[in-house]
Amino acid sequence: VSDLWRYPFLPDARKAVQGLELETLLNDPLYGEARALGLMRLETAVKDGRIVLETPADALAEKDHLHGFLISRLLLAVAGDASLTGLVAVAEGERTQHFLHREPGAELVRLARQLSVATTRANGGYTVNFVDYLRAAGSLREGKWKLVNRPLRDGHVRLSRRTLERLMREAVAQHLLTLPEPPEGIAKRFESEIEALLQVVRQRRERAVREMGKFDYGKAPPCLAQQLADLQGGINLPHPSRFFLTTFLAALGRDPEQIMELYATAPDFRESVTRYQVEHITGKSSGTEYDSPACDTLVSQGVCPGGNTLCREIRHPLQYYRVMAEREKPEAVRRKRIHLATGGGEAKFWTQLPLRFSGDVPQRSLTAALRSDAPSRVAVRVDHFRARREKRGDEFIISALARLVDDTVPTPLLTLSLTQWELALPLASAREAGVVVEVTLLPVKLGGAKRLHILAVG
Ligand code: SF4
Repeated sequence: VSDLWRYPFLPDARKAVQGLELETLLNDPLYGEARALGLMRLETAVKDGRIVLETPADALAEKDHLHGFLISRLLLAVAGDASLTGLVAVAEGERTQHFLHREPGAELVRLARQLSVATTRANGGYTVNFVDYLRAAGSLREGKWKLVNRPLRDGHVRLSRRTLERLMREAVAQHLLTLPEPPEGIAKRFESEIEALLQVVRQRRERAVREMGKFDYGKAPPCLAQQLADLQGGINLPHPSRFFLTTFLAALGRDPEQIMELYATAPDFRESVTRYQVEHITGKSSGTEYDSPACDTLVSQGVCPGGNTLCREIRHPLQYYRVMAEREKPEAVRRKRIHLATGGGEAKFWTQLPLRFSGDVPQRSLTAALRSDAPSRVAVRVDHFRARREKRGDEFIISALARLVDDTVPTPLLTLSLTQWELALPLASAREAGVVVEVTLLPVKLGGAKRLHILAVG
């Protein structure tokens, strides 16, 4: 058993506990310590974000650890909760990395191979088969983990010892997401313990969901939406993502306490550590308020998931958020901005331009819509879409122009400038995908030409 207690998920550890009857493991007083250790494994992982167990004093205690691990796997299988399984897997991975750090190089290689990470020592470092690397690093979002950012030779990725340890931590966490079949009888026996674990997970989820619910997702740039979706999905955010999320939300006026709540679903959430990090970044404890990073930094760090059409016109996610807040401006300001972006027309035309519509809008062809002086719902194709970023007077206006068409008109018709990007973005997507999109539009006459004034999309 020697040393296997540190790595109870390895095939050798499983062999060491083979042959024991489940009934004995669950009920025999001889295995009481193992059952307590199994529960403690789960409780500390869920409450503290790390597995805290005493070092076994002798061979018997080491075996208890192996049996305890087995119990923890069975309980997770019975609980059947992906968030709980994820939390524990991350904590097990972290615990493993702590032990790996003390292993001699040859042992590190042997353990990596047991984890199906084909590793060899080379020139003072390590090399890992690139397929194994990709599999283990797949969930690591930071740019430095991308294969293009790693030295690759003959199908092998070169890694430092520290990086290999981190990769193995990930391999362990992934491995432990797969659970055994839940055996019969154990659910009843551990009902209250399982319920207590699930209760902690639920509370953490509720804390984060409550905070996320306050957020206006309609204005969120893709990078922010991605981080929030990852948190909701129970994925650990790497440091650059946390830094971005924290500084971004602080810039929007969220206080450190509210920001901290968001991280409650992260598998590695530790309240005290997260509080310290958030308070440090927001300047509450450090006195230095860090700026939220710009797009080029987020692209190079792998935080940007790839922007959309609006992203090409901006340099900073906060700018994206502000552009998306156009609809919150007073109507007179919005009209003026559409006027500035479009140009032409008499002052009266612009002051009377409707920005809203009410009631049921009839579905019409584009030809019929052009004959009407009321709004119509029309299914159109986007023949052309162009974004523009221009200085008009004292302000920069980021707007879009589109040409829309259906089978009833001979040529596509130009819209007025769209300054409201929740209207412009779906038109850009429809153009890219070549699909039909429903718009609510009002035909207007500007400079002697018919133009389409878009009131709603979708
Ligand atoms: S381009 Fe900028 S705003 Fe857009 S998703 Fe990337 S980082 Fe975010």
